[in-house]
Amino acid sequence: MTDAPTSVPAAAATTLVCLACDVPLEIGRVTASYLGQSFPVDLPRCPRCGFVWVSEEIASGKMLKVEQALEDK
Ligand SMILES: [Zn+2]
Repeated sequence: MTDAPTSVPAAAATTLVCLACDVPLEIGRVTASYLGQSFPVDLPRCPRCGFVWVSEEIASGKMLKVEQALEDK
């Protein structure tokens, strides 16, 4: 069986796929929680299992900025 279960167009190189469900993630508004604070954020999420993909950039960048912003105010 050499055929992939799903055809992958060239554009899929930038498309994130849920490793558990093998379905493309969809950008959606989710509520992220960090240090006891909740805030809305647009992230790629799996429409099937609800997995939210959080990049290292967000985890180490934006989250940190949120933390700093909260501490400033
Ligand atoms: Zn999934």
